Amino acid sequence: MAGVVIVGAGQAGYKCAETLRAEGYERSITIIGAEKHFPYQRPPLSKAYMKGEVDAERLKFRSDNYYKDHKLKLVTGTRVSRIEPGARRLRLGGGETRSYEHLVLACGSVMRKLSIPGADLDGVCSLQTIEDADTIAQKLSKTENVVVIGAGFIGLEFAAVARSLGKSVTVLEAAARVMARAVPPRLSDYYLKEHARRGVSIICNAAVSEICGEGGRVNAVRCADGSTHQAGLVIVGIGANANMTLAQEAGLECQNGIVVDAHCRTSEAHIFAAGDCTFFKHPFNDEPMRLESVQNAIDQARTVAAAITGKNEPYDVVPWFWSDQYDIKLQMVGLAQGCDKQVLRGKMEDNKFSIYHYHGEALRAIDCINRPGEAMLGRRLLGSGVSPRPEEAADTDFNLKSLMG
Ligand SMILES: Cc1cc2nc3c(=O)[nH]c(=O)nc-3n(C[C@H](O)[C@H](O)[C@H](O)COP(=O)(O)OP(=O)(O)OC[C@H]3O[C@@H](n4cnc5c(N)ncnc54)[C@H](O)[C@@H]3O)c2cc1C
Repeated sequence: MAGVVIVGAGQAGYKCAETLRAEGYERSITIIGAEKHFPYQRPPLSKAYMKGEVDAERLKFRSDNYYKDHKLKLVTGTRVSRIEPGARRLRLGGGETRSYEHLVLACGSVMRKLSIPGADLDGVCSLQTIEDADTIAQKLSKTENVVVIGAGFIGLEFAAVARSLGKSVTVLEAAARVMARAVPPRLSDYYLKEHARRGVSIICNAAVSEICGEGGRVNAVRCADGSTHQAGLVIVGIGANANMTLAQEAGLECQNGIVVDAHCRTSEAHIFAAGDCTFFKHPFNDEPMRLESVQNAIDQARTVAAAITGKNEPYDVVPWFWSDQYDIKLQMVGLAQGCDKQVLRGKMEDNKFSIYHYHGEALRAIDCINRPGEAMLGRRLLGSGVSPRPEEAADTDFNLKSLMG
């Protein structure tokens, strides 16, 4: 029977194939991806690629030869339309079938869409693929006024790029503060000020009611309070859902994503899942959750490869994430959900500081601004379960490294 088939040629799909080969898996490996590109990194799409600092070639994880050299069969531009777990077979969009011994679902996420009048006007875009980024960059070059709907990471990173290119940028956020799901109020305030200082207007508690246009093209965004914001380009960054349609239709257990255990195995013994599409109990969190991050995609892909090659290595990695806006590098380690105390280390006005998140006396997460060394150390502290006391974390004279013995 055929070896491993991976659905999705993104971060997790590529990493799983690479790790399987590195671990000595010798049977056939097929990666099937809906996009026409060889596997590439998405984070630069809202950062260096959008700024024009790197080209599409540089986004690729590997050279095109890599796949041939490692006997990885890469099928691009092809969507898997159905899984038949009983027969260990899947169907491609064109009706063709493929058999598998193990199947890996690495289908990523689907961007949420606005459901208001005008949402389908020309000039209303979301940012997930190279094509999206190219379309946006081209439209950006022809307009002066940009509205970003949603002040999450992607929306704010794009706002920073557009502003640095001299555009007039307004960000409309439904919540009371920016990046509210991911960072504490103090950090939201910091980002609000940093964007305002550079001329980006961020309006929180905004209820966007309509996207207006003329001749099929967007020209403004209207809010429920009657305010209107001129826009030649609108970026919708209101989050994403797990891409779990295939899994649901195949009868796999799904909740807020494809449910996987500590080995990234789904409710079907021969089917694994990794990356943005999964929903799982993280060892660093009390409740099951989804994580949309490069780290999670890479480490779950490694976990899948370990399980397929017969190693018993459950997923147990300190989560980390980063975001680049202007010259501000945010690095988050750990998970801050459920924390009841935040401690500041350093001074916010120096643009170099960290926020330590505690649950009782236990350190659960650290958000570092322009402190890469501390983010690295934070991963080690959290990974070994070592907690500085809150007063030690707050004291910049206290040497955190000393805790690592
Ligand atoms: C603009 C942007 C900026 C980001 N910035 C950061 C960042 O700074 N830091 C960070 O940690 N994370 C960032 N992320 C998130 C990160 O890129 C994702 O978490 C990561 O790519 C998830 O990997 P994945 O393999 O699960 O999904 P993806 O990389 O999205 O890959 C999924 C692939 O599956 C394919 N697919 C889906 N269904 C099918 C099907 N039926 N048949 C065939 N193929 C299918 C899709 O076309 C897609 O190519 C960013 C994401 C975006 C979009």
